[in-house]
Amino acid sequence: MNARDIISGKVAIVTGGSRGIGKEIAKKLAGSGANVVITSRNQETLDATVNEFRKNNRNILGIQGDVSNSESVFRVLAETEKHFGPVDILVNNAGIGGQGGHFWTNNYDTWWKTIEINLKGPMLYTHAVLKNMISRKKGIIINIGSYAGIRAVPMNSSYATSKAALIRFTDSIAASVREFGINMFTVSPGLVDTDMTKNIPVFKNLPASAWTSINKISELVLNLIIKDVSKLSGRFIHVEYDLGLLINKADSIIKDGLYTLRLAGLDGLIE
Ligand code: NAP
Repeated sequence: MNARDIISGKVAIVTGGSRGIGKEIAKKLAGSGANVVITSRNQETLDATVNEFRKNNRNILGIQGDVSNSESVFRVLAETEKHFGPVDILVNNAGIGGQGGHFWTNNYDTWWKTIEINLKGPMLYTHAVLKNMISRKKGIIINIGSYAGIRAVPMNSSYATSKAALIRFTDSIAASVREFGINMFTVSPGLVDTDMTKNIPVFKNLPASAWTSINKISELVLNLIIKDVSKLSGRFIHVEYDLGLLINKADSIIKDGLYTLRLAGLDGLIE
């Protein structure tokens, strides 16, 4: 079966689908025949993206809303179900880049806002769609994470903290929904040229090789939806990994607890 056979008619929500990585993922899913809902806070950008998709005959709905607001999440879900039916695919993509600079110079409310959008948002959406996925015994949730979640980022601690917690959130919930046939992943996009990275001085003089092309991420998301990846559910998948190899090595990945957060000490991994 090709991607279209599997994805056609499926219902997908892509948060933050109005621009950047989310837009590219939405484009890939809609192009494969999915009914796609995109969300974002800015109505104008959302409308422009919806119009662009509709010109290409894509089945798309744009619903304005903030991922960190529970009422707005319930509304998005209710409108999605009314329009298209129950959600098969959730891509928690919406995120903000965090507040740069030393932690002690950051405003703590602004710092916390990053956690609210990058972590509370995926939590609210996951909570909202899971009951229905569990009763239908199918579904996939893809959380857009970052390498920033696996290393210390001294000059952007709010972003690193949000993305680290997202990895643990993903593998914890994935383990509890595995028996219902639901897969969950953290996808790490690499460094991508979007509004988020555009004006960050440290990225200005990087060579072309440091950047990942945006369509690689949408391709990875598509592959996680169409391939038999259930054994890998819960894992952190970076865009440059060879997914075919990971699928082949899934048993040893599970046995050795790879591609998730671990703590190593002087005597090796602390279990
Ligand atoms: P972007 O170009 O800034 O797009 C972000 C999208 O999220 C926009 O559609 C934005 O629309 C939406 N959004 C932001 N806050 C929102 C909120 N509270 N509620 C609803 N929608 C919201 O960013 P991007 O680079 O595509 O990033 C997408 C994801 O990839 C993020 O989770 C980011 O952390 C992750 N990521 C990006 C990179 C990279 O190199 N670009 C690397 C690693 C991870 P509005 O502003 O209109 O709401």
